[in-house]
Amino acid sequence: MILTADYHTHTPFSHGKNTVAENAFAAKEKGLKELGIADHGFAHMAFGIRRKDLAKLKEEAAVAEKEYGVRVLVGVEANLLGLNGKTDLKESDYPNFDFFLCGYHLLVKTATASDFFSMLVRNSLKMKPNDSVVKRNTKTYINAIKNNPIDAITHLSYRFPCDAIEVAKCAADYGTYIELNSKKTHLTDEELMEMTAKTSVRFLINSDAHAASRVGDKRIVEEQLARLSFPTERIDNVEGRLPAFRFQAYKLRQGL
Ligand SMILES: [Zn+2]
Ligand SMILES: [Zn+2]
Repeated sequence: MILTADYHTHTPFSHGKNTVAENAFAAKEKGLKELGIADHGFAHMAFGIRRKDLAKLKEEAAVAEKEYGVRVLVGVEANLLGLNGKTDLKESDYPNFDFFLCGYHLLVKTATASDFFSMLVRNSLKMKPNDSVVKRNTKTYINAIKNNPIDAITHLSYRFPCDAIEVAKCAADYGTYIELNSKKTHLTDEELMEMTAKTSVRFLINSDAHAASRVGDKRIVEEQLARLSFPTERIDNVEGRLPAFRFQAYKLRQGL
């Protein structure tokens, strides 16, 4: 399987080690057509990107694109903030970004105190999640997909257990991808096969690279998929294919 693009890489604008240019050079070496910079969203208290740095980030992306001949897109890995599906990417931020990823992270400023307890505290406790936690997490993902033009959910269910099949159904309806993250295995074999059998959801493979050496890495995803005879035609950033992102379509419709 040959990766066409990697949409989930970090830089020092959030929690990454290497610059935009270094990630772009690595993408070129790996033969990628497109590279996505997706730094952590604004509400991440430790590593969130700052709005005042966006102009610099975009400038660096434009320079790197010219230098290395790889298309460099500026996106964000927004944070889930609450049960109502709120994220930390506001509509007023949309013109500054090319694509919109979203995932669950700790250390974020949640929407409400109740979200803080339910999303951060209950999911952080080292005990088996009970049904009510899983139900609430599932609803949080679903509301986020319904209420925001999210291109892909990153590391679905990682530290935030959910009913992955229900989330995949909703993602398929709204044209949101489910990411297969090659930094950490986050979906079980059973979940992956059930998602492909019971829903029409589509997937992206992303590295979640925090260093240029990992840009374009897909090793652990490939190992899991090979074990499962996974239908790789459901993945839209391999074998020369490029995904259709709903965020771009939304921006066009809204004139943003
Ligand atoms: Zn993440
Ligand atoms: Zn990430």
